[in-house]
Amino acid sequence: MVLISTRNSDERLEAALAVLRGIAPDGGLYVPRDFPSIARLGKISGSSYSTLCAKVLGLFFSDISGLDRLTERAYSRFDDAEVAPVKKISEGEFVLELWHGTTLAFKDMALSVLPGIMTAAMDGGNDILILVATSGDTGKAALEGFRGADRIKIMVFYPDRGVSDMQRLQMVTQEGANTYVVAVKGNFDDTQNGVKAIFADKEFAKAAERKGYILSSANSINFGRLAPQIAYYIRAYAQLLDNDEIKEGEEINFAVPTGNFGNILAAYYARRMGLPVKRLICASNRNNILTDFFNKGKYSLKREFYKTMSPSMDILISSNLERLLFELTERDGGAVKEMMRRLKEEGAYEITGSMKKTLESGFYAGWCGEEGTMASIKDTFERYGYLLDTHTAVAADVYERYKRRTGDNTKTVIVSTASPYKFPGDVLSSLGEETAGLSAFEMAERLAEVSGTPAPRQIMELKDKPVRHNKIVDINGMKDAALEAM
Ligand SMILES: *Cc1c(COP(=O)(O)O)cnc(C)c1O
Repeated sequence: MVLISTRNSDERLEAALAVLRGIAPDGGLYVPRDFPSIARLGKISGSSYSTLCAKVLGLFFSDISGLDRLTERAYSRFDDAEVAPVKKISEGEFVLELWHGTTLAFKDMALSVLPGIMTAAMDGGNDILILVATSGDTGKAALEGFRGADRIKIMVFYPDRGVSDMQRLQMVTQEGANTYVVAVKGNFDDTQNGVKAIFADKEFAKAAERKGYILSSANSINFGRLAPQIAYYIRAYAQLLDNDEIKEGEEINFAVPTGNFGNILAAYYARRMGLPVKRLICASNRNNILTDFFNKGKYSLKREFYKTMSPSMDILISSNLERLLFELTERDGGAVKEMMRRLKEEGAYEITGSMKKTLESGFYAGWCGEEGTMASIKDTFERYGYLLDTHTAVAADVYERYKRRTGDNTKTVIVSTASPYKFPGDVLSSLGEETAGLSAFEMAERLAEVSGTPAPRQIMELKDKPVRHNKIVDINGMKDAALEAM
């Protein structure tokens, strides 16, 4: 399928090539020229995760062969046979666990298949250097996904003090001759801006080309991240059908803990493709810029940035929102371009009243602070015996309030984005346990005792792994670090 840019519909490229390029030359994001109908998938219930995912990918990447083998291989490394199981926690309330991959966060869902898509799209020409800015989870998932990939190197930049201990350990112990990990003195937005600046730098691109490389991205602005995520919404719906929890065609809600707006955007795309979805509940932490956007129609960066216990949602510039704006403006690239210019130059933009109305019919937005996050973990564990991580807890809290406020009893799937063992200290504290003096591993062991759930091997084996990456740079040093890797 042909993809077009959110800033100019005449800017178009075949999907596989758009994945290699990452971002459109005009700075826009690639989006499908039209939404394929899920009717083209045939019967969605009863097929395995990887089979259904390959079919979904086939709607967009019709020119890539062997998608079945690609998804089969990618998801065979997951530690649950269902890949992304839906668990019922109470009547009408479900959790979709997206963290059974190698790095225990939902980023594995897409980053396990993205390298295969890229390799299939590469021609005989240059090698690829993938540059990634991470708020914690993307980095590790990308490193694992691309480790050992032929003719592809991957460099991950993470904010020096913006990730959890476990997330940092996962990255700095990364193996693989084609992997590079660099800490940046700054927060996530600084790091992301640094990577964006490298992509926009024509001199840098020439220097890379002289070394035989082209640059590409594995961030969630890459369409190759988005397409595999659509699949798990469709499969979640199919699981509810398989388990007789819903009837064919019945609408459900999804509650999604949101940062860069990638995960929830995939749900929106699934709805546009015909999946029966009523409300998308967009949950933010204390960095509640999206809540304000949905409720007030204004996106404004003039606000404080907070570090929270859900670091993967500590974001002010929510990049994928641009793709939603494109739909809200009825695909007016000029209008999107103008809003993005305002955001860059004036730090804010507004949408029209009619755009806001459209938003309200399909979305609900709310946020939850640190205390609410902790209470959500404790309540959910005490009431249902189900252990949430700090990100998913935000979504659970926002959903509970949504239900109380609206009285909407539609069956709802809370999208769970990480294993609680990635954030053992905060999860333990939420349960009222003492954590002082415990190492991250001792906390994980304690969490296993307290909750009666097993500590994942992926976490415990980090203890004995040597640190392989200890480079730290200023924002200005990111470019040199990337040049040295080629
Ligand atoms: C990345 C991430 C999020 C936010 O997802 P977006 O697609 O950026 O909205 C939420 N929770 C966890 C655990 C994550 O890793």
